[in-house]
Amino acid sequence: MSIDAISLENITKRFGTVTAVDGISLAIPAGEFFSLLGPSGCGKTTLLRLIAGLEQPDSGELRIDGSPMASVPPQKRPVNTVFQNYALFPHLNAFDNVAFGLRMRKTGRPEIDRRVKSALELVHVPELRDRFPHQISGGQKQRVALARALVNEPAVLLLDEPLAAIDAKLRAQLQSELKTLQRQLQTTFLYVTHDQSEALSLSDRLAVLSHGRIAQLGTPQELYDHPRTRFVASFLGGGNLLEGTVESAHNGYAQVSTLAGLLQLHSNTGSVGSAISLGIRRERIRLGELAKGENCLRGRVTDVAYAGSITEYKIEINGTEVRASKSNALGGQDFKPGDVLDVQLPPEALFILQD
Ligand code: ATP
Repeated sequence: MSIDAISLENITKRFGTVTAVDGISLAIPAGEFFSLLGPSGCGKTTLLRLIAGLEQPDSGELRIDGSPMASVPPQKRPVNTVFQNYALFPHLNAFDNVAFGLRMRKTGRPEIDRRVKSALELVHVPELRDRFPHQISGGQKQRVALARALVNEPAVLLLDEPLAAIDAKLRAQLQSELKTLQRQLQTTFLYVTHDQSEALSLSDRLAVLSHGRIAQLGTPQELYDHPRTRFVASFLGGGNLLEGTVESAHNGYAQVSTLAGLLQLHSNTGSVGSAISLGIRRERIRLGELAKGENCLRGRVTDVAYAGSITEYKIEINGTEVRASKSNALGGQDFKPGDVLDVQLPPEALFILQD
């Protein structure tokens, strides 16, 4: 049986009356890119600090690479952290910043030279070795900070919003480099972010946190396509919520009446007469000639917003507003305000919210 890189069992951390982390259990296998995603104050940073040993839990057990960490101080844990604000030593050049940890551990000079050089190459900034932090850009500082963490060959790399201070274009490039680096090194990455698209695109799996608890955990696709709560559904991006009542349910099918119309569901859910909340992502709604088959309704376009790669529509169906989006990549029909059209909510695209 393989040992998890990180294992948390019922970890709780309070600050006075605030419960920052509330009984979290989590197992992250070695080599995974795992993200903690959630709004400000949900406990992401506290969880990372507990793993790094910068905070002590009030209760629960934390293991790294199978070993209990309760009595292991931060500097002895097989983890390194990359912070949002770079945290480089201002008086040391890039080489010495990266070499710092190795020198502390009395690594021999030839080995330091070799490892620092290769770490700087790994993050594509070997030419910055003699520069000081004030002489390099934010993106470059974060590359050096990453090299400084990776040079120690940690079992787990903790990343606390490492790209939050970097402008959008460079951030996209660094995201893709981080993912490539993680695949190449096979180091376990635990990545904290409040940016849902970042978490979805980088992670093998992620946990959405809310008020110190895991609201939902799974692969990006599982969470996006099948969010279990309103919180997860709305936090992970544009969707529609439809309240309804179960009209019939048998043999793995159900019929739900909503204000927009009667919808078929390909799952057995709830008892007849019970209230049910359904959701559907904007881009899963089919419009016009693409709307064929089950759950086709008639709607009227009330608003159109062109957004480059997609066009967004507001559509009124029996007095209920839904939002749909259509990719512009493949051309196809365009619609304008006032158009009356078929609108399909395919059964397989509907998700059921439990909370
Ligand atoms: P952000 O994205 O804003 O950094 P976060 O999800 O990382 O938020 P945490 O920093 O873990 O959230 O904070 C969780 C809760 O614990 C918050 O209510 C915060 O105010 C509280 N908290 C965190 N650290 C301390 C502390 N040292 N003393 C008191 N309260 C704290």
